[in-house]
Amino acid sequence: MTSPVVQTCPECGARLDVDPRFSVWCPHCEWNLTPASEAAEATEQPRHGAAHTDRTARTAHADRTEQLYEDLAAGHGATGRRDWLAASAVAAAVHLSTTALLAWALWLLVTGNTPLRCLGAGALAVVVLLRPRLGRVPRDEHVLDRHRAPALYGLVDRLAAQVGADPVGVIRIDGTFNATIGVVGLRRRSVLTLGLQLWEALTDQQRIALLGHELAHRVNGDHRRGLWLGSAIGALAHWHDLARPRRRAGSPGGLQLLFQLADLISDALLGGLAWLLLRAVRLLDRLTARAGQQAEYHADELAARAASTTAARGLLETLLLEGAADTLVTRLRADRIHRPRAVRRGAARPPQEPVTATLWEQLREHLATIPPLERERLLRRSALRQDAVDATHPPTHLRLALLDRRPSHPAVVTTTATESAAIAAELAPHRERVARALLAD
Ligand SMILES: [Zn+2]
Ligand SMILES: [Zn+2]
Repeated sequence: MTSPVVQTCPECGARLDVDPRFSVWCPHCEWNLTPASEAAEATEQPRHGAAHTDRTARTAHADRTEQLYEDLAAGHGATGRRDWLAASAVAAAVHLSTTALLAWALWLLVTGNTPLRCLGAGALAVVVLLRPRLGRVPRDEHVLDRHRAPALYGLVDRLAAQVGADPVGVIRIDGTFNATIGVVGLRRRSVLTLGLQLWEALTDQQRIALLGHELAHRVNGDHRRGLWLGSAIGALAHWHDLARPRRRAGSPGGLQLLFQLADLISDALLGGLAWLLLRAVRLLDRLTARAGQQAEYHADELAARAASTTAARGLLETLLLEGAADTLVTRLRADRIHRPRAVRRGAARPPQEPVTATLWEQLREHLATIPPLERERLLRRSALRQDAVDATHPPTHLRLALLDRRPSHPAVVTTTATESAAIAAELAPHRERVARALLAD
């Protein structure tokens, strides 16, 4: 054991414990809460998508987010019903214009002469691009078959019954630090995707909270991923993409000036259309953001009721460690790529298996050794930056705060040691596959 290094805070003079693995910061005055390297990274990647890239939009979004939290914490059951209705009306306008375009295309194809028929065919192609996408049940290597994973499907079925959702259609396993649920096909079957980086970082009970939250998405009144709203948002994004002016390569010869002029005019027209479409996307985004966040808080509550408030808190706290997990995986990948070169030619190369075999153990160990002071920094930084898992979730610190404001729940769904061992065995082949994929260049 090395003796702890001590430093004083340059701002307030408090004594600071230093862990060389992490940046030094002051929990008293929050000096260096966000070191320069992280601040740069935060401005590079806007976390709320294109709709909130400018600063004012971001501040307004943050204000609305805070307001919703205050309303819910104060016990006002802020209903998003009016917002959902308005959003559905915007979606109806989008669907109506797609239908009108389809009718026009068909009319041209049936009644027009050759040039008009060509125009009709073009319009039909646009309609095909804008059509609602139902998606289909995936059949790739990520899929975990129900008959091959009775223990995990059994647990998920129990949780679905607990939160009042339909049983899931398919469970998929990938390498992300996340979990998602979506619905596909005409029969609207749900596809639950579990990211192994997150799954492996959680305790058994926190995994139940994770499954509970995802399944709650099927019953929490979140319409953003529904067919009506979801496909309208998709169609608007396609419209916007079609209208966005692009840089073209210069045309050859004396016609260049004429081409440039034509480009200029079409760019101006398309630019105007793209601007209007972007407004519509933002309107839908604003209308659904509040109601969507409310649905997320409700999913957290359902997860806490199934898995216990403690487990739901633990899950949310683990979500803050995504950066730490990413750093470790990146380091191990670099080690794996560079090490073989260092091995003297002719010497027996170390087999590659050990790195993939121990990835998950190393990940768990790495996350478990993150000291409370660093965890506290990540939590406060998340509050400062309004960090969310993604654009659709409220910031993690507010989700934690709301759980604390609500009554604490004991666990209703639990797993026995035999059951969790069976689940681990079912996941073993995927653990191996995902580890290889994560550590390959
Ligand atoms: Zn200080
Ligand atoms: Zn969610």
